[in-house]
Amino acid sequence: MTEKMHRIADDMVVGIGYTLHLDDGELVDASTDSEPLQYLHGYGEIIPGLEKALHGLGVGDKKEVAIEAEDAYGEYDEEAFQLVPLDVFPEDLELEEGMELHMRDSETGQVLQAFVAEIQDEAVLLDLNHPLAGEKLFFNVEVVSVRPATGEELDHGHAHDGGNHHH
Ligand code: ZN
Repeated sequence: MTEKMHRIADDMVVGIGYTLHLDDGELVDASTDSEPLQYLHGYGEIIPGLEKALHGLGVGDKKEVAIEAEDAYGEYDEEAFQLVPLDVFPEDLELEEGMELHMRDSETGQVLQAFVAEIQDEAVLLDLNHPLAGEKLFFNVEVVSVRPATGEELDHGHAHDGGNHHH
């Protein structure tokens, strides 16, 4: 049995090589030859527009995909800003505008990514938008592997290959 027999469908673990460009041609992300991106299809591990475009493909298939912001990281949200008092940040942290911060929500435990939009006298204005919010994305993808997920992967809702499995 070879991987070529499988087509990308829900509950398959898929490996893809890809490059990601923005509308202006800027390269923002790419897999490496040694480390394709592995994900579990049908579980929202990758952006919806890309998942939809890959559905039904097999190993060796290549595709150029253009994805509107609404099917990628969403539209830029002018309301997604938060003013945080300066004194909640560690004293030794040198805040700079444009800096990326990772904060753990004390209630949900979820890690939030934010960017410093403005440093004020006693507070910091954070931009909670994803850095690619509002961007139309252009992917060049090649399918490098397709296999059925293990029971454990289905339980967890993510792929276990690729060296980036963490709990
Ligand atoms: Zn897991």
